[in-house]
This record gives sequence, structure tokens and C-alpha cells, in this order.
Amino acid sequence: MIPSILYFSPLLASWKTQLDTQLSTYGKTIEWRAVQDIDQSPALSTILLAENDIAVSDWPLLASRKAIIIVDEWSLESSIKWIQRGAENCFARDDEHLTAWLISELSKFALNRFHRTEDDILQVIIDAIPAPIFFKDHLHIYRGCNTAFCQFIGHSREEVIGHSVYDIAPKHLADKYYEADCQLLAQGGTQRYEAEVLLCDGSLHEIEFNKAVFTGSKQQPLGQVGVMLDVTERNQLIRQLDKATRTDPLTGTSNRREFNLIIHDEFSKRKHSEKKLSLMTLDVDFFKKINDKFGHSGGDQALQLITNWLQSQLRSSDTLFRVGGEEFYILMRDTDIQNAFKIAEQLCKDMATHTFLINQQSVHITLSAGVIELDPIADLEDTLDMVDKALYEAKSNGRNCVCPVYL
Ligand code: GH3
Ligand code: MG
Ligand code: MG
Repeated sequence: MIPSILYFSPLLASWKTQLDTQLSTYGKTIEWRAVQDIDQSPALSTILLAENDIAVSDWPLLASRKAIIIVDEWSLESSIKWIQRGAENCFARDDEHLTAWLISELSKFALNRFHRTEDDILQVIIDAIPAPIFFKDHLHIYRGCNTAFCQFIGHSREEVIGHSVYDIAPKHLADKYYEADCQLLAQGGTQRYEAEVLLCDGSLHEIEFNKAVFTGSKQQPLGQVGVMLDVTERNQLIRQLDKATRTDPLTGTSNRREFNLIIHDEFSKRKHSEKKLSLMTLDVDFFKKINDKFGHSGGDQALQLITNWLQSQLRSSDTLFRVGGEEFYILMRDTDIQNAFKIAEQLCKDMATHTFLINQQSVHITLSAGVIELDPIADLEDTLDMVDKALYEAKSNGRNCVCPVYL
């Protein structure tokens, strides 16, 4: 006779001898296998678990096995609790009903507990859909999936159906899916979220889960169905596009759009902070002459060199933006107007003595600047107007100088 395999948890090691004797009396040969944890037994296997051997983290796996809970003192209430958590049955240690029940179970073919109606046609339909689809019962056990799902996660249908998410995903990801599943079942309706999924080839994909709860005749949740859309490429494109819209293509530095986003962020942070924030506006002096002398591409090269030089002068807390042709902003965090003025003057001085090489010719460039301390509650447009006026004043004062705005 082929032995039936029964798994058991540590606290049942000596107790099971008595059960084994009884079962063999009735012609049942058992191959007993000791496991330290429930996950050491395969999904769909029959496992006897002492109540005190079960941790809360084992609960999600109960329904993926035929789990029989052995308690010291049986009560209807605690028994129902275990069954609701996904256990198959619950018996007291000295209850001979367990022997009878096991004999009955071992004598018949395992019952497919999940009733599938019009299965074949439904399976063909979902297999024809290229997006991965799965459905789970109310205890989060996979009860069905399509071919795309199997291919996507690299497991066969047999490795999926009847299994818990903890059987097919690494624990840190399974914890996330399980939490989302619990939340959906508790709230009902539909759910959409993005999560990372580890594929069989080891690659991580960003997946948009679209899930919905299906209910019974009394509106009780019976489980959930999920459709997975691989949005990895779409998200990468969105991120690239977003970066492109915030970057100046010629110099690779942040542009005016990025400035508007960052300043908005800085202002909301600073509403409750004493830290000062200043802005320097810069315009290259007589830039048209560079274009005239070196042509437009020489001018472009000059703009790239100027940007690189400005970047090299920044403190780690400063941010440079190219906001127009040869106009720049430098946002200076934790800097008051006095300090900003000093830094701007030094910057203009250093620029004037720096030698740039354009088409193998030495070029000297000067900057005119305006500086202002930003007030988070003032109108930003008004503030930018004021610092622009200061910059024009620097131009009319002969260029290569800084005009501060004192509020
Ligand atoms: P000012 O001292 O008064 O600022 O004199 P300016 O010559 O710099 O005058 P203005 O700021 O009005 O002109 C800037 C010039 O920069 C005009 C435009 O042709 C040139 N420019 C703007 N954007 C670019 C660009 O991307 N590449 C090149 N090569 N030139 C540009
Ligand atoms: Mg200009
Ligand atoms: Mg200029």
C-alpha cells in the first residue's frame, strides 16, 4: 500500500505515535514528516499543527494546506476561529473523532473545495487575454489564473492554484500583496495600486494592479480578481519626459519650469521655518558680441562653458537654473540678503577674471546680477519683478556688478 504523507509540527512529536497506531489498526499506513514551520510542508499537503506551534505569521499559509489544528482544550468558538483563518479542521488531542475523520479523508480523493462552473470556456477566455489575470478566495489562496499570469511569474498553473502568495513571492513582496488583499476584502469594491513584482528572470517590474472583490448571494466577500498591467516602460517614459520638461536641453541644467516647481516647494517648507532663502538673477554682459564673433554655435558653446563654470562655483545648498537665453537664477538656501550680496559680488569678480576658451581663443566674460531675499508670503511675480529691476540697474550702472534689493 502506498503510504499517505502527514506532516506534523514539533509539539506533536510524541503524541502522533498513538494516532499512528490507531490509523494502522484501520489499515492506514502513514509516512510522518516532521516540520519546524508550516512553510516547510508543500502547499495542498495535510499537516497536523499543535495550536502552540502556530505563529500569527503562519496564518496566511493555513488555507493553502489542509491544516488540522490540535488543541489541548477544544471549544466550538476556538475551533471556528481556526477554521475561519483557513484551517481545515480542529480537534482536541484526545479526540478519537480525529482518527475517524482522517480515515475518511485518506480514503477518498482530495475534494476540490473550490467549485468551478463553466470552467473550461472561462479559462479559454482569460487565457486569450494577454494581461496576467488571477483570482483568489477569501483566504487569499490562488484559485485560478491565466496563461499570461503563469508566464509572467514563471510558475506553472499547478504551482499557483491552491497556493498562498507566500508560496510564490519573496516574503517582503508577499507581505505587501497580502496587506493590499486584506484591505480590499475589508473595504469591498475595486482597488488600483502599483507595486513591484519579481519575475522569474530576476527582473523587477512595476505593475499596476486592478482588482475587484466578488461577492456571494448575501454580499459576503468570496474573493478577489486581479488584472496586472506591466507599466515599467510607461513609468520610465513618464520619468524621462518629466525630467526633460524640467531640464534645459543645451546645458543640461534645470530650467524655469523646474524653478517654479522648486520654489513652490521651498515656500511651503519655509512657511514654518526661520531659515532665509535668497535668489540671485544673472545676465551675461554683451552676449550678442560672442554670437557675432563666434557664430551661434560658438555662442552655444559659451553658454555651456558658462553653465559649467557657474555649477562649479555653487555651494551644495545652491541650485542653478537657466531661465532664458543667457539668463540664470541661483537659488541660495539658508542665505540672507547680506550673505547673498557678498556671494554674488564674489561670483561676478571671479567670473571677470576667468578665461574661457572658445574656438581656441581666450574670452573674458562678465555678469550683471540682482539679489533678493525671498519672502514666502509675498507674491512671487512681484518678487521676480523687483529682482529683475535690480538686474537692469546693475546693467545701467555699467555692468559687471551686483544690485541688491533691500525690502
Ligand atoms: P546685455 O549686456 O545688455 O545683456 O547685452 P546682451 O548682448 O547680452 O543682450 P541681451 O541680453 O539682450 O541678448 C542676449 C542674446 O543672447 C540675444 C540672443 O541672440 C542670444 N541668445 C539667447 N539664447 C541663445 C542661445 O541659446 N544660444 C545662442 N548662441 N545665443 C542665444
Ligand atoms: Mg539677456
Ligand atoms: Mg545679456
